[in-house]
Amino acid sequence: MGSSPFDAWITNDEELKSLLAREWDRQTTTLQLIASENFASPAVMAATGSILTNKYAEGYPGRRYYGGNQIVDEVEDLARRRLTMLFGAEHANVQPHSGANANVAVYQALLDPGDTILAMRLDQGGHLTHGSPASITSKFWNFVSYGVTPRSDVTEHPGEFIDFENVRDLAVRHRPKLIVAGATAYSQLIDPQPFREIADEVGALLMFDSAHVAGLIAGGVHPNPVPFADVVAFTTHKTLRGPRGGAILCREQHAKKIDMAVFPGQQGGPLEHSIAAKAVAFNEASQPAFSQYARQIVNNAQAFAKALAAEGFRIVSGGTENHMVVLDLRDFDAELTGKVAQEVLDLAGITTNRNQIPDDPRSPFVTSGLRVGSAAQTTAGMKEEQFVDIAQLMSRALRQRDDESAIKDVRSRVATMCDQFNPYRNFTK
Ligand SMILES: *Cc1c(COP(=O)(O)O)cnc(C)c1O
Repeated sequence: MGSSPFDAWITNDEELKSLLAREWDRQTTTLQLIASENFASPAVMAATGSILTNKYAEGYPGRRYYGGNQIVDEVEDLARRRLTMLFGAEHANVQPHSGANANVAVYQALLDPGDTILAMRLDQGGHLTHGSPASITSKFWNFVSYGVTPRSDVTEHPGEFIDFENVRDLAVRHRPKLIVAGATAYSQLIDPQPFREIADEVGALLMFDSAHVAGLIAGGVHPNPVPFADVVAFTTHKTLRGPRGGAILCREQHAKKIDMAVFPGQQGGPLEHSIAAKAVAFNEASQPAFSQYARQIVNNAQAFAKALAAEGFRIVSGGTENHMVVLDLRDFDAELTGKVAQEVLDLAGITTNRNQIPDDPRSPFVTSGLRVGSAAQTTAGMKEEQFVDIAQLMSRALRQRDDESAIKDVRSRVATMCDQFNPYRNFTK
């Protein structure tokens, strides 16, 4: 069993140390295909584990409520400067503890309670914070939802797409104060321009939630929403490959309101160790190697989707333009639920998550779909060829799910692949 060099610093807690060693083992001997996950660099992890965790810094650089923030101010300014440069934005807030916090802060900054927001419905690919009844967002604001529409006129990629006529109709009918573009389970490219046009037509503000695709935007393979949206919110830990956290970009005119909504509106002291790690990640994402990485993520996902389709899975939206593939399992096996598929694949060392497909007849806990992503294993160095192999291994494990020795065989092939593509090869002590 390997372990991270950092674990050696935990000298007084054998219980936790052993848990960390087991998780290290899990992450480096099974395939990480959860679309929202990635392998952060050792530099990102080192900054997250740094001395900055000790510092209270309520407020913003130059306007703190505690003393001793001279250096922390420089750290946060470095992160903000790198982030505005990376996306060409006017203002950045790097304090949100998560993507969900960032989204709620944006609503809080731009809207009054009860105002109408037009966003994508959860079961169609939207996020909980886009107005799901289970989310606090739906209790404060009035959400109207758009979804995806099957495109029978498209033969190249028949499947579910955001239907801008539908978005426009809803916008004209409900006059939202804010339109939210962006999704959590949608594999097509989201063009910010038609959203901007619709927002302008009805006098709405536009927020682009690029939680999933922030890294693809930074790498130049997806269009940058910054010139189109009033606000762009995202997570730093998905394709952007930074520490767990959120960030917000906005036009200067909204800067004060956004900052006030994050602190003191919603959060207390910022996590300056995470902000330092965000600064590391923003720098990494500005390097030419990151553009190559972003391109490889998409190439791998496309090879993966093609190979999965060849195994008999129906690909929601007919293909992928980003890092994720959403599978409708019903064509592959009408009896197989997302829940069972996820559990079988877990036994085979393939980590995925069940996901509802558009108009899923099964509940969110059971589902008829599975979501997979290429970002993490691309970081580990895998290419198209490996993703084709993974598609075949997934299919085999699911078809032979009642055969223990078949699952075992897949598990051992997975272990061999993971050994060959360890993201922390040069980091293991
Ligand atoms: C992941 C995600 C979020 C929330 O991020 P957390 O860090 O999990 O809170 C928000 N919006 C979208 C579209 C996401 O995919």
